[in-house]
Amino acid sequence: MGVYLLGSSYYPEWWPEEEWKRDFAKMAALGLNAVRMGEFAWSWYEPREGEFHFEAMRRAVALAAEEGIVTLMCTTTAVCPPWLYQKYPEVKGGNDHGLYGFGGRKGNCLSSDVFLEYARKITEEQAKVFANDKNVVGWQLDNEPGFPFVCYDPCCEKKFRKWLERRYGTIEALNRAWFTMMWSNVYNSFDEIRLPVNAAEGGWSPGMKLDYRRFFSDNFNNLLSEEARIIRAQGSKQFIFTNWPGANWSVSCEDAMSYLDYSAWDNYVSVPVNDDYHVQLRSSMEHDLCRRLSNGKQRFLIAEQCAAPHANAAPEAVRAQTWLDVAHGAFGNIFFEFRVPTGGVEQNYHSILNADGTYNRCEPVIRKLAADLKAHYSLLDGAETVSPAAAVYSYQNSWATPGWVVDGPYDEDFFEAHGGFKNALRQNMDVIFPSDDFSKYKLVVAPNLMILSDEERARLEQYVRDGGVLVINPVADTRGESNLIREARVPALFDGQCGAHSVASVSSADMAKQQSAAGERVSVRFNDGEEYDVAGTLYELAVEDDAEVFAEYTCGRLKGKAAGVVKRIGRGALVLYASDARNYRYYEALARVANRFAEIPPLLDAPDGVIVSSRQKDGETYLIAVNAKNSPAELTLDGPLFDVLRQCEISGKVRIDGLDVLLAKKRS
Ligand SMILES: [Zn+2]
Repeated sequence: MGVYLLGSSYYPEWWPEEEWKRDFAKMAALGLNAVRMGEFAWSWYEPREGEFHFEAMRRAVALAAEEGIVTLMCTTTAVCPPWLYQKYPEVKGGNDHGLYGFGGRKGNCLSSDVFLEYARKITEEQAKVFANDKNVVGWQLDNEPGFPFVCYDPCCEKKFRKWLERRYGTIEALNRAWFTMMWSNVYNSFDEIRLPVNAAEGGWSPGMKLDYRRFFSDNFNNLLSEEARIIRAQGSKQFIFTNWPGANWSVSCEDAMSYLDYSAWDNYVSVPVNDDYHVQLRSSMEHDLCRRLSNGKQRFLIAEQCAAPHANAAPEAVRAQTWLDVAHGAFGNIFFEFRVPTGGVEQNYHSILNADGTYNRCEPVIRKLAADLKAHYSLLDGAETVSPAAAVYSYQNSWATPGWVVDGPYDEDFFEAHGGFKNALRQNMDVIFPSDDFSKYKLVVAPNLMILSDEERARLEQYVRDGGVLVINPVADTRGESNLIREARVPALFDGQCGAHSVASVSSADMAKQQSAAGERVSVRFNDGEEYDVAGTLYELAVEDDAEVFAEYTCGRLKGKAAGVVKRIGRGALVLYASDARNYRYYEALARVANRFAEIPPLLDAPDGVIVSSRQKDGETYLIAVNAKNSPAELTLDGPLFDVLRQCEISGKVRIDGLDVLLAKKRS
């Protein structure tokens, strides 16, 4: 590609056609070169059944091109027009409160054959028009797949039963997997199964809940893969992606790799807010996951990013976040959105153009960003991220967590663990899956990795014997793929010989209730004296003779007992920590323990708040340091570097202003 796609979302259907040219000209004048259009335009394209009008969008694409702006075209299946709902109310699904009426967006039932047929038709008609348009460089499928997390309606119930029948074959196999003998839930046939909605006291079984999430994910992947097929069938050479609302949510993006060219996500979690750079570490995790999801291409797209930071943050935050995206492998950022909506549900959403047609307060920052990327991105285009450490993410484990919600316990701990390790190591981190090759990493952290296959377990164990450093907690390898508990020690890896095993457990919330009267924190203290509050479940450990204790509990009956051990196994080491924490600082401490064995050097000697990454290309290494704090920071270089943005040699002590970035080249 060579050119960084810096652009914005724009909705020509909202505005009089005579104003489009002015809007595209204002994009170009700011330095933008891409526009994302059309993801909610179904009723504009097909105002009445079978009556298709794509001429206006064709004119919009052509007008943008006249200003040097390429188009990312979206399919429209995240909405449906009123005439379709009027004719077939089954095209909308439902939630805990019942079936949806018309209004809003999303909520289309992806089990409805009627919806799927109409979705196919509009996508095919659209693809016929744009699949070979040279001004359209890429396609976004649908919009933020995965919302709204459940679909409860008669169509889904029927499809769920069929899905289960395909998975289990016999109802007896399903009964075993779901452990239905408990509470007389034994089914005689698949027809007796209902959706997991509005359960009586006690709720649904863990096996059923996990299968519902798998079914829900498959439904989205079915729709999206069909759209990709339709576009490619028209001879399209454009790249295909979708804008995940977060790549760790309710659809398996791992499965989606089979039909997408690139992964992309909508970054609303993070532009730096004053001196709290915690959210930047969150965006790093999504970036690292999306890089993994791009089929080995090592790059991804930010399909939506806030066009303005928090009102109390400096506008330079937008530039800092964008460089952080680039540092992790982004090949484009599309701001949301260009022109402030004057009505609709998103009325007044902060945009690049204010209602009076002037640019928002980020104008000079976006101009500089555009100019810097235009001048220097070619150095990084096609570059690779080489990471000495990885964090293992698993959709199955996320969905298997009791009480699954978006960013719930599994994902929350994963964010903190990934961010803590990245920050402590001052290094690149990869996010990988249990099925991936671990052997290229010196250190692998796998928080809450409950469900493992026999093959994955064997490879993890071999990884440690061969010299790897593996960080796990006691839930590792304790469940089978139906969410049934394995009848084995906790944790079960290495036949239960992990340096310690669990003999009892208590929820941190229960412990806090009991210890608050005694004025005790529910925390663990590391051997260096650092103490961190912990969360989730606290495991009491029986420690083996050949293990080293690196932390202890500070409270209640567990006071003074081991809260973490490390054991040498083969040429490697296994680090077992006994409680989670919703705090990346705790995971930084764990990373320091693990790195005594992994011995990974930092990319740069950078102070806290400066997030460092590197990219490699053509024998060159590019270091990217983003100061996510709003105050100056000082780096100490161990050799001379070339500062690409300022075009000068640098060495020794180097200052980076608040929210500024250093892009530096060194010889590999
Ligand atoms: Zn449905």
